[in-house]
Amino acid sequence: MQIIEIYRSIQGESSFAGVPCTFVRLAACNLRCVWCDSEYTFTGGKKMTTEQVEQEVARLAPSGLVEITGGEPMLQERELVPLMESLLARGYILLLETSGERDLARVPKAVHKIVDVKCPGSGEGGAFRMANLDTIGRPDEIKFVLADRADYEFARDFTREHCLESKVNSVIFSPVFLKSPSRERDTSNCQLDPQKLAEWILADKLNVRMGLQIHKFIWEPATKGV
Ligand code: SF4
Repeated sequence: MQIIEIYRSIQGESSFAGVPCTFVRLAACNLRCVWCDSEYTFTGGKKMTTEQVEQEVARLAPSGLVEITGGEPMLQERELVPLMESLLARGYILLLETSGERDLARVPKAVHKIVDVKCPGSGEGGAFRMANLDTIGRPDEIKFVLADRADYEFARDFTREHCLESKVNSVIFSPVFLKSPSRERDTSNCQLDPQKLAEWILADKLNVRMGLQIHKFIWEPATKGV
C-alpha cells in the first residue's frame, strides 16, 4: 500500500470527534476539490505491506479507534479491504473517510463509513456515486463540506430528498476551512461563518450535526499530522 503517514491525534469531525484515534493516511486522490487541505497526499508516500501498517497501528495503540483516510483510500481497495478486516478482527473500532465517489459495496459492514457528498462549491459537485446510498446505513455518517449558501441549500435538499436524517448515524454539515489559514485557532479561518450555518440549520429545522474540525482549533490550522 502507498501510505503518507500513520499517527495519533484527536478525531476531529464526526460523531467520534474528541476521541483519541490512530490515523492511517493513504496516498493519492482522483478528485481535486478546490478547498482541499490534503494536497500533500496526491503524490509520494511510502510503500508498506498491510502487515507493516498493522504493526505500526498496534505500536501506536493496542486498541480503540482507527481512522483510514487520505487522499481517497478506496483507490487502494484491493489491499485496503483485507487490512480493514484484519484490524476489525483485532478489535479496533474502524472509521473510513471517503469522498463517496468510489464504490463502497466491499467495505466490511462493521466499518463506520464517513462519506462525503461533494457540493457544487467544491468544484467536484456530482462526484457522489448515487449507488452508494444503497450501501450506507447505520452506523455510517454522511458529510457535506459547505462553502456558501448555495452549498447549504444543495446539502439541505439532498438530505431531505434521500431521508438521510433517519438513514444514518449522523449527517454532518461542516463549513469549509480556508486553504491558507492564518495561525489563529478560531472561526476566522472558516470560509462560511459557523454562526450563519447554525442559524440556517435551526431555521430549516434540520436534524443534522455541525462539524467544526476541532483539530483545527486545538492545533494551528495548517499543522499536518494532527
Ligand atoms: S476528495 Fe478529499 S483528498 Fe481528494 S481532493 Fe477532495 S478533499 Fe482533497
